[in-house]
Amino acid sequence: MSHERNGPVDWSRVKQAARLPAFEKGSVWLVGAGPGDPGLLTLHALNALAQADVVLYDALVDDTILGLVGAQAACVYAGKRSGDGATQADITKRMIAFARSGKRVVRLKGGDPFVFGRGGEEALALVEEGIPFRIVPGVTSGIGGLAYAGIPATHRDINHVVSFVTGHMAGGEMPNSVNWRALGEASPVIVIYMGLKHIGRIADEIIAAGRSADEPVAIISNATTERQFVLETTLGRARTDAAASGIPGPALIVVGEAVRLRPGLDWLSAALHGRKLEADPLHQKKTRGRVTQRT
Ligand code: SAH
Repeated sequence: MSHERNGPVDWSRVKQAARLPAFEKGSVWLVGAGPGDPGLLTLHALNALAQADVVLYDALVDDTILGLVGAQAACVYAGKRSGDGATQADITKRMIAFARSGKRVVRLKGGDPFVFGRGGEEALALVEEGIPFRIVPGVTSGIGGLAYAGIPATHRDINHVVSFVTGHMAGGEMPNSVNWRALGEASPVIVIYMGLKHIGRIADEIIAAGRSADEPVAIISNATTERQFVLETTLGRARTDAAASGIPGPALIVVGEAVRLRPGLDWLSAALHGRKLEADPLHQKKTRGRVTQRT
């Protein structure tokens, strides 16, 4: 394959090279908006927003992203946090009605539509109705949020497994289908979505699985937005620290030794506040310059 380059980035060439599709009338694209920072939108997502007639968006979609929607499109709020009692069934019905009336419908969701976002359910409803659709993946907050907090989801010396888990069910209770004991034993790094409400109980369960109460925990609030805030705590202190700080949602909880890498990798604080980064946050380099292997 040849990689012919001629000059600086030219957006019309980017569009052509990415083969961005035309949005057919009467179809629905389920689009991941990423965790907040508009720079994390994909080219497919931008292409969708540029052609849409209607954008049905969730509560988690950042305002700066809605600001990028073309003037041709109507933005319709379809979250469940409005207090107007909109249910999942209502939202799906609305999406289908717009498509049936010949609109190009973007169903815009925070993060990735297939990660704890009911994208699968909504797409199956479209299949049932015979409405053509496309899925545009997005950067899920559990990946993008960690990167913006300076916490690698995997690190060779720490974990070969990372788990993404929900701490909340539709009714608000803690999911009993999650085997916290097994998870605590098998997964050195655990990323919990929708876990803030039950953080104390979740931490207790993970400690009961044999993990140390001193194990580090990071709570990342409003990741990748201008309101990003990270609280570092431990499994043992998570409940009281979260309550005392009043840290708001949406938030991710990261459990595991990977959190100890933050002093080295928190590039965002370094850029915004001049925080000095440590080259050896795990203190692996001995004075003689030898790298010791963690066991
Ligand atoms: N589909 C989304 C997740 C939806 S579930 C995704 O892929 O990211 C909603 C949960 O996602 C929130 O409760 C929170 O745990 C997490 N979340 C989404 N956006 C976030 C953000 N900007 N900062 C922190 N957590 C976020």
